[in-house]
Amino acid sequence: MHPTPRQSSTDQSNWTAAQSSRLYGLNAWGRPYFSISEQGHVMVRPRAEQGDCLDLVSLVQGLQARNLSLPLLIRFDDILEDRLASLHDAFGRAIAQYNYQGRYQGVFPIKCHQQRHVLEHVVRVGRRWNFGLEAGSKAELLIALALLDNPDALLICNGYKDTRYLETAILARRLGRRPLVVIEQASEVDDLTACSRQLGMAPLMGVRAKLSVQGIGRWGSSSGDGAKFGLSAPDLLATVNTLREVGLLGELRLLHMHIGSQISDIAVLKEALQEMGQLYVQLAALGAPMGYLDVGGGLGVDYDGSCTATPASTNYSLQNYANDVVATIQECCQSHGVPMPTLVSESGRAVASHFSVLVFDVLNTGGVNGTVPPLQEGEPLLVRNLRELLATVTSENLQEAWHDAVKFKDDALSAFRLGYLSLVDRAKAEQLYWACCRTIAAHLGHQNQPIPADLQPITTALAATYYANFSIFRSAPDTWAIDQLFPVMPIHRLHEPPQVLGTLADLTCDSDGKLNRFIDSGSHKSHLELHHLQPASSYWMGLFLGGAYQEIMGNLHNLFGRTNAVHIRLAPQGGYQVEQVVRGNTTSDVLTALDHDPQSLVERLRRDSEAAIGAGNLTISDAHRLLTHVEESLRQSTYLESGVKSP
Ligand SMILES: *Cc1c(COP(=O)(O)O)cnc(C)c1O
Repeated sequence: MHPTPRQSSTDQSNWTAAQSSRLYGLNAWGRPYFSISEQGHVMVRPRAEQGDCLDLVSLVQGLQARNLSLPLLIRFDDILEDRLASLHDAFGRAIAQYNYQGRYQGVFPIKCHQQRHVLEHVVRVGRRWNFGLEAGSKAELLIALALLDNPDALLICNGYKDTRYLETAILARRLGRRPLVVIEQASEVDDLTACSRQLGMAPLMGVRAKLSVQGIGRWGSSSGDGAKFGLSAPDLLATVNTLREVGLLGELRLLHMHIGSQISDIAVLKEALQEMGQLYVQLAALGAPMGYLDVGGGLGVDYDGSCTATPASTNYSLQNYANDVVATIQECCQSHGVPMPTLVSESGRAVASHFSVLVFDVLNTGGVNGTVPPLQEGEPLLVRNLRELLATVTSENLQEAWHDAVKFKDDALSAFRLGYLSLVDRAKAEQLYWACCRTIAAHLGHQNQPIPADLQPITTALAATYYANFSIFRSAPDTWAIDQLFPVMPIHRLHEPPQVLGTLADLTCDSDGKLNRFIDSGSHKSHLELHHLQPASSYWMGLFLGGAYQEIMGNLHNLFGRTNAVHIRLAPQGGYQVEQVVRGNTTSDVLTALDHDPQSLVERLRRDSEAAIGAGNLTISDAHRLLTHVEESLRQSTYLESGVKSP
């Protein structure tokens, strides 16, 4: 049920930070990294239970003092490391518990986060587990070849491959790398054998199976008969036969699957694993040496903390996932007497989501004008009707009052269109309509029962709009593209009761540039509980769990460029250290990216201002002011300069 706007008269003086934690679900999705302090600030514990706790608000203040303006992407490198450790710990525990006769050795799918500092960090901290990389394109392969200098780590090569991709991967074996080329399409076999013959050397090979189980959710079509990648059963057999004929079957080491991202229901995974187990033992029986079973991506993130099989959640934990992978494959291999493979996963979302937090500021708010206009002589009937209605709303007639209010407002709009109502009277009618809505909503808020379905639009109609200094197309594109939900909430004032229901609008001139779906424990709500803005202070909000995919999918819509980003680590002596600053795009950067030339743009405006000065239309000092604005804008971030206010 959606809460209705609370009237400021409602006594909420004993509101606590713990209530905010429950309200925004942070007590569920935030564990173990995020919590709320008594002073109502979001706190970050980058090494979970193992280390210090940082006050996110003081951190942002410290970064602002270093001239890093909002919106700001804060990457907690320790969280990324902790996620890797949790993944390996989970598989380690499962392997020990089931006495699995094999290892786990994961790779990070580069497509999830291609940024250099992030990948360097993954490779560096992943070395202790021989954690590798997965490439899905030629460009990603080049990154992987350059960064992955650990000969014991796997380099899984997926995606479409041309001859150059294949030859690069094969030759890299001579550098001591271990590229494993996964055959995803039947046609790739011939290319691969031709390249191997040409170079006198073959790569380690894998095959991607097209599983019969149909995935679910947004990426459900990644498996099943219609999937884009993967070898069907006849293709698998044909591939094995071809490899045997050309003498390369001895290089077939890996069986791969990827049934889609964010698998929310563990039952789907189990079924896929059973099929994979059978395929694996059959391939071994056909004479392939095998050794690796790669379960791909799909390990989900519980964005709303509800532990349910809904799109923004998962009905399993990391440990459940590891247990199921280990147990299912073990059972299958054991019963067929096949040695147990090294288990590989390509978990991107599950590793990279938690470590980055986007902090942005709210610029101002807008909403409906529901103040009651003073009564005047001779008001038209439509306006008088609304006045009367407003005076007679009681908790007994809410539904009737709502229908009447809508009817009177619609009548007023029709009358205006036909020329029978002045603008002054139309404005009055609208204000009275909103006042009726407020009164009805207030009554609903005091009733301890669900809001009837036909009254729910009132809440939507009354919601305030909070204008936020960021672009969802840049920083949270999946909210727009695929209706993904991320936890979004204020990062301070959480010891105060939120008094407003609102939605967020971003800086773009696009009506899609908004957030009006918010996590709500297994479902979603259309408003977020927010605080009234205070004139002299800023209002800071955070978007959490957006570390996977958002940065690369983000685009330049309305020319909002990359935001400033910082890498933060816990310092050995306590507190934090700023490891790396990655400056956001300047306006000049984004113009250049679109083939504009900032220099000649300035020069053209300079010439035109000289002409305007000559014609007496512009003073020299105004011309100077204009050109200074242009030149400064080019050097600065593409976002609004809201000035440094204290939170
Ligand atoms: C996208 C992709 C992944 C990563 O999936 P996640 O759900 O983010 O873990 C892994 N493997 C392949 C082949 C992919 O295409």
